[in-house]
Amino acid sequence: MCVLCIYFAKMFHCLQKIVLLCMVFQVRLLMIIVHKISELQQILQDVRQKGESIGLVPTMGALHEGHASLVRRSVSENDFTVVSIFLNPTQFNDKDDLEKYPRTLDSDCNLLEECGAQLAFAPNVDEIYPEPDTRQFSYPPTDTVMEGAFRPGHFNGVCQIVSKLFAYVEPDRAYFGEKDYQQIAVIRRMVDDLDFHLQIVPCPVVREDSGLAMSSRNTLLTEDERRLAANIYRVLKRSKSLNASIADTHDYVVSTIDAIPGLKVQYYSIVDGDTLADVESWNDAESIVGCITVFCGHVPIRLIDHIRYK
Ligand code: AMP
Repeated sequence: MCVLCIYFAKMFHCLQKIVLLCMVFQVRLLMIIVHKISELQQILQDVRQKGESIGLVPTMGALHEGHASLVRRSVSENDFTVVSIFLNPTQFNDKDDLEKYPRTLDSDCNLLEECGAQLAFAPNVDEIYPEPDTRQFSYPPTDTVMEGAFRPGHFNGVCQIVSKLFAYVEPDRAYFGEKDYQQIAVIRRMVDDLDFHLQIVPCPVVREDSGLAMSSRNTLLTEDERRLAANIYRVLKRSKSLNASIADTHDYVVSTIDAIPGLKVQYYSIVDGDTLADVESWNDAESIVGCITVFCGHVPIRLIDHIRYK
């Protein structure tokens, strides 16, 4: 009797493993990779006909846990998740930055499969821009301050690609990371302006244990530079507990980070968290955030981050 019990227990354990493997395997088999807009739209037509909801996660590849958090959220809130992987040239004002950008399509697809995404859309540049995109978008002050001021044309390129993706996919929800805080503000304005019927879902920043915001660009940092870069969020957090005026909080962040060899602040702006307009007092807006860009290391690598004060 006892021998039989052991035998059945072992069989059951084996079966469990097989079922688990099949589930994993099926998930892998279910992710489709397409490179053409026509293929994408054909698949999505079937999805829509079945009445299924569609989530979109736009990315530029070199995916990490930050991207994965957006994909998992979309998978949990939609029947069908599309992740675009497209290194959009029109949002790079610095061609050197574009060339240096890491490209890791195979491992990106593995990560997306693990997250349960149904489709990866990885077009080449000619597919998206058979002709140069001459459209101009303008949503001041969201696209003119901070990144908009230091990277001319950047948000115009972001609006070009995101509006195209919205038109191809027609998602019910689109997921963006608060890591790029300003980008969400610009895209919200574009969605209102162009009457896209979809929900923008902002997702919290995913950080390394050190506090450094995860970014595809972090792979370009050496280990020492990564440790150095962790100071950015450390200083931002400390600035919250100062209880100082906006001007003094600003100066504290800039002078403390600039005093660390290997780090150089490009700008630090404390702004209205919705409109991104400058604020002079903590009472000027209901939501207030501090947005920073820092050059790190000898190359140097440009890192962005932000902190919410209220
Ligand atoms: P990217 O590939 O850099 O264009 O990023 C694609 C999306 O992932 C954007 O909405 C980013 O804000 C988001 N994202 C990137 N890094 C993170 C992170 N560390 N935490 C949360 N979202 C992120």
